[in-house]
Amino acid sequence: MSLPQFAFASDNTAGICPEAMAAIQACNQGYHPSYGDDSITSQATEAFRSLFETNCDVYFVFTGTAANSLALASLCQSYHSVITHESAHIETDECGAPEFFSNGTKLLLTAGALGKLDPQEISRTVTKRRDIHYPKPRAISLSCPTELGTVYTPEELQAIGCVAREHGLKVHMDGARFAQAVASLQVPPRAITWEAGIDVLSFGGTKLGMPFGEAVVFFDRSLGEEFAYRCKQAGQLASKMRFLAAPWTALLANGLWQQMGARANAKALKLRAGLEGVPGVRLLYPTQANAVFAELPTKVHETLKAKGWRYYVFIGGGARFMCSWQTSEQDVNALLQDISTAEQ
Ligand SMILES: *Cc1c(COP(=O)(O)O)cnc(C)c1O
Repeated sequence: MSLPQFAFASDNTAGICPEAMAAIQACNQGYHPSYGDDSITSQATEAFRSLFETNCDVYFVFTGTAANSLALASLCQSYHSVITHESAHIETDECGAPEFFSNGTKLLLTAGALGKLDPQEISRTVTKRRDIHYPKPRAISLSCPTELGTVYTPEELQAIGCVAREHGLKVHMDGARFAQAVASLQVPPRAITWEAGIDVLSFGGTKLGMPFGEAVVFFDRSLGEEFAYRCKQAGQLASKMRFLAAPWTALLANGLWQQMGARANAKALKLRAGLEGVPGVRLLYPTQANAVFAELPTKVHETLKAKGWRYYVFIGGGARFMCSWQTSEQDVNALLQDISTAEQ
């Protein structure tokens, strides 16, 4: 049964894209070595290396929370701190997992326009205290796209990379929607990762069209030296790793990952354009990836709720509509129809 009313609740209400499904099916033949010692996992790892045009190390885990928390834990000791945006997923939606897996590393929250970290705020946070009584700043974590659907430019990321180097901080990128960011910017993936000073990236597969699975990509390979142990201890080392790796081989080939990201972004732009014409609706942030945020009159919320539409209202202060690879023109039109005809 298809429930279009769930289409915009999140980009994880969508199913598995046919290409990922075919890749999983294709490796469901015979026997293969376990725990990542198989040829499909090596092939996926090599695909990341060519994509990023560098010799990075890659690990496959099940969820974005695991990718983020384990990546941060590998950068930090328990007495360290991570500077991040107050709206960051690691702060608001991971149930304390980053602190838990790092045995107490503290998140230091900063404000910044449009969900982005502000280099000056980072400097201020680092230099505010240098005494032994305060957790020592060790890393920066930023989301790209941000939780508000905006995307950092390569220049903005370089500026954060500079501040990081100035203060001896490592940089983690939460790329739960990394494909959507690259599709939006139209730059080579290296331009917004290692070239801009990102040391480790959580590259999202779930919101791209996989059943589950995120890749942790270490550009600074020394930081990931013992990462496999960390994954195993956290219950994130898949014994049938090939099934986590296979969808990546399909999506990273021929730029399909970027097309999937672009498809989601295009639907968000279409939804935004439709909402722009509706009186009483106020759009909240630039639509640079696959999210549209809008303030709606209370009565419109009531109508949408009565018709079964689901969407979050606790992020960014308005209604959040997420698009995915699967969002169709009909889905967008159905939502627009219900919003524009709702009594106000
Ligand atoms: C979805 C998402 C994640 C990952 O969430 P999981 O539910 O743990 O897979 C991480 N960061 C951001 C910004 C997200 O939107």
